Amino acid sequence: MTDTPSALDFLAIDRLLSEEERLIRDTTRSFVADKVLPEIAGWFERGEFPLELAKELGSLGLLGMHLQGYGCSGTSAVSYGLACLELEAGDSGFRSFVSVQGSLAMFPIWKYGSEEQKQAWLPRMAAGEVIGCFGLTEPDFGSNPAGMRTSARRDGPDWILDGTKMWITNGGIADLAVVWARAEEGVRGFLVPRGTRGFTTSDIERKLSLRASVTSELVLDGVRLPDSAMLPGVRGMRGPMSCLNEARYGICWGVMGAARACYQAALEYAKTRVQFDRPIGGFQLTQEKLADMLVELSKGTLLALHLGRMKDAGTLAPEQVSLGKLNNVREALKIARSARTVLGANGVTLEYPVIRHANNLESVLTYEGTSEVHTLILGQAITGLSAFS
Ligand SMILES: Cc1cc2nc3c(=O)[nH]c(=O)nc-3n(C[C@H](O)[C@H](O)[C@H](O)COP(=O)(O)OP(=O)(O)OC[C@H]3O[C@@H](n4cnc5c(N)ncnc54)[C@H](O)[C@@H]3O)c2cc1C
Repeated sequence: MTDTPSALDFLAIDRLLSEEERLIRDTTRSFVADKVLPEIAGWFERGEFPLELAKELGSLGLLGMHLQGYGCSGTSAVSYGLACLELEAGDSGFRSFVSVQGSLAMFPIWKYGSEEQKQAWLPRMAAGEVIGCFGLTEPDFGSNPAGMRTSARRDGPDWILDGTKMWITNGGIADLAVVWARAEEGVRGFLVPRGTRGFTTSDIERKLSLRASVTSELVLDGVRLPDSAMLPGVRGMRGPMSCLNEARYGICWGVMGAARACYQAALEYAKTRVQFDRPIGGFQLTQEKLADMLVELSKGTLLALHLGRMKDAGTLAPEQVSLGKLNNVREALKIARSARTVLGANGVTLEYPVIRHANNLESVLTYEGTSEVHTLILGQAITGLSAFS
């Protein structure tokens, strides 16, 4: 006789993880339970990101954790994914902070930077002492970043950058911006420290999603940088795209955390909320919602783990990450919306996590490649025909 599977790990995915992976997951889960969950509703309501927790994320080894050397933890891709899942079970804003720091700001320095750039920035970024952001999107170029207008021109030994970047996570709190700009020789990455003359940021207000995350505009007005500020190891859109691929991989995992939190909230509520003299979890329509959530949560988590094992084996293609991002964000959103209905009126308040996750996931659906863009990437991969333009 086998036992009834657990409601929270129905497919016993836990058994597929190594001891080290479980340890990293459990440490991150405890951090979220102790430091994030008690405060998150207030941060979300006030539109704040608690910057004071950055160093704590660093001391836990969660910043740039899948990178080797330079003070980074050098964990497996699966461990990185598990940490993303646990952080996003707290709030997508926290996972976004860690994704941007590790995959979008540290990764390009680690992969394409000079030895001096790596030594100068990575250890302090891994410790959470220096915050990074990634400036690719522009007001007029979102899904099509290759059209970017931000320019980099040579002036003697220096570079001069001009342009505007939009919707940049961590922009207003960043000590260092990784900015992608069009040079004569192709797109180049530049390291722009806060305080550089001509470089300013302003935060985007009135967001109703990812409120516990800073999103900003970056303005570069005749910013003069030495040649040593340019990332020497990459030229062309391959540079920013490879960073996005790293971050998208983390999203495949992360959103399953938001989905799990919504499923869990709906399940607990359904077992205790009584209407017509019985718990609403006893009604078939509620059970159908919970069962559907369980099915998609289990499938999505298995998919993330499969992609993670492929990434660790060095066989994961960007198109496979697109499949994961497309499916898992879509299903996480469905789970969040369905969970919200189970909670009835309570589902629309910050007393419960569900509407916060649902709102956050609307941003996750759009950033790092919209669902439409990932659909087109898959369409191109399987037909050999590009439908982008
Ligand atoms: C909270 C938040 C944080 C972000 N953080 C960052 C960051 O840190 N760094 C950064 O560089 N960017 C960031 N972004 C920007 C994000 O990556 C872009 O918003 C995204 O790429 C979409 O661009 P857009 O908003 O300009 O939409 P658009 O590109 O204008 O798209 C609008 C709609 O048209 C669709 N569409 C576009 N082209 C096609 C096509 N060929 N076929 C079919 N449909 C199409 C899109 O899918 C979408 O539905 C962030 C965004 C948000 C919301």
